Amino acid sequence: MQIEASHVGRLYGELWAIRDVSLKVPVGEPLLLLGPSGGGKSTLLRLLAGLETPQDGKITVDGKPLSTAESDLRTYRRRLGFVFQEGNLFPHLNAEENITLPLIRAHGFSQKEAQARAKELLERFRLLNRASYRPAELSGGQRQRVAIARAMGHDPEILLLDEPTSALDPEMSAEVTDVLESLSQEGKTLVLATHATGFARRIGGQVAFLHDHRLTWCGPTKEFFQNPPNEGARLYLSRIYRE
Ligand code: ADP
Ligand code: MG
Repeated sequence: MQIEASHVGRLYGELWAIRDVSLKVPVGEPLLLLGPSGGGKSTLLRLLAGLETPQDGKITVDGKPLSTAESDLRTYRRRLGFVFQEGNLFPHLNAEENITLPLIRAHGFSQKEAQARAKELLERFRLLNRASYRPAELSGGQRQRVAIARAMGHDPEILLLDEPTSALDPEMSAEVTDVLESLSQEGKTLVLATHATGFARRIGGQVAFLHDHRLTWCGPTKEFFQNPPNEGARLYLSRIYRE
């Protein structure tokens, strides 16, 4: 699936959360959205995901403008998977049910098919022995791995993640980034907002640097870290490395 944003802008009240953003989501390699807080990373993710629509410019999918009709957006979103900062698991369901419910409700799986798929994913993410645990009984790293398993249930074409490790301590973060690296190596396209620069360097792909509501640079991740492309990027990296 080829997703492209051209001159996209999103207004909240009187403020452009992002403005005049144009980029192509690369296929088969990750796209990392980097930049200071408030720069527009989450907004761009939501627009690419069809969770919101732009006031300006357009998103095209395989060359066709993304419709703004809710039913078309729903169809589009079914081709994607999402993971948010806090995972947003259903608190009253256990790990397995968190994975099976959307497969049954939104993707037409039978109960049996959904359970088989959930088992497969729980095993892959080393969570099989936590299948019957509710989110409150899991560690933060386990919760995020369940959230990734849930997002992967229907084998989405693209997985979009908004700061999936920012609420985690370093060890749990590593559990999650290991999973993401392995998905990426298998060729799953990830679009990912993150401040985890070590992980970003390892996973490679492309960087889109968002600063003050604008996309100020887009290019290979390696290049971004080897030779930060502009003053905003230099400042951002120096702040991150000081922490
Ligand atoms: P980032 O994810 O890089 O921290 P965001 O996309 O969340 O940046 O925010 C970009 C700008 O848009 C910020 O100024 C933020 O306050 C504003 N913004 C984001 N979402 C909303 C919203 N739902 N309502 C009003 N303002 C918003
Ligand atoms: Mg954000």
